[in-house]
Amino acid sequence: MTEFPAGMVWLVGAGPGDPDLLTRKAERLIRAATVVFHDALVGPGVLDLIPAATRRVHVGKRSGRHSQDQGSIDRMIVAAALAGERVVRLKGGDPAIFGRATEELTACREAGVPVAICPGITAASAAAASLGRSLTLRGLSRKLVFVTAHVRGDEPLELDWSALADPGATLAIYMGKSAAPAIARNLVAAGLNPETPVALVQGASLDDERRLVTRLDLLALAAEALPGSGPLLILVGKALAEEAGGGRTACPLGAHQRSEASW
Ligand code: SAH
Repeated sequence: MTEFPAGMVWLVGAGPGDPDLLTRKAERLIRAATVVFHDALVGPGVLDLIPAATRRVHVGKRSGRHSQDQGSIDRMIVAAALAGERVVRLKGGDPAIFGRATEELTACREAGVPVAICPGITAASAAAASLGRSLTLRGLSRKLVFVTAHVRGDEPLELDWSALADPGATLAIYMGKSAAPAIARNLVAAGLNPETPVALVQGASLDDERRLVTRLDLLALAAEALPGSGPLLILVGKALAEEAGGGRTACPLGAHQRSEASW
């Protein structure tokens, strides 16, 4: 297979969880791999597409044990490629968005291993689709900011709040659950209207997806009220307003039984 010779690594975007949101190319690569290294965030339906005979290695967190450190993941994928395997490194969402792709690309290139990226649907896109709302709004929300609120250990959350508190922007906040109170406090302190619409989507595209639509000053309460521990995406901005996004009837409550509450 010319796109996937032995000894090559593909960083493959698994999308937000629903296997129907996988690209056709991703599925092809998953089926052609001889080994798949995957994160905890890869949806179970996507993992089901890995052929039974293919070796799979879980290298993510949330598995009841510590995640592998990035250096050992880099070494594992390089070693597998050098041993002549067809390596898929399967990552939730899009590999190039908060996915540590640079570390793995660099490790492969330094070892002379051919490596390429197959993009995936990122959580922000999946969350907007589930909400039936747009991330941008002509004339009003002209900017879309992907930002992570992840901090290491006890480090403080240091973001450029005055730049983020832009009424003309939509913020797509990844890894923001525990920082939700600080996010709301800092954005309001930096001048963003406390009534700015906020949407929380937990487990976007998965069977247990939950959505909450609220306002910035209620973000902390809303994040706390969400049961379960699925990955949470927080969206902030005028584009998320019900009237701006077409209202609740636009919400596709389709195949999955999903729950939405509006505060
Ligand atoms: N590369 C991924 C992001 C990895 S960072 C992407 O492009 O989506 C992990 C964070 O992504 C989670 O903490 C959460 O904020 C978000 N995320 C990933 N999958 C999600 C999902 N199905 N629903 C909601 N948020 C999700």
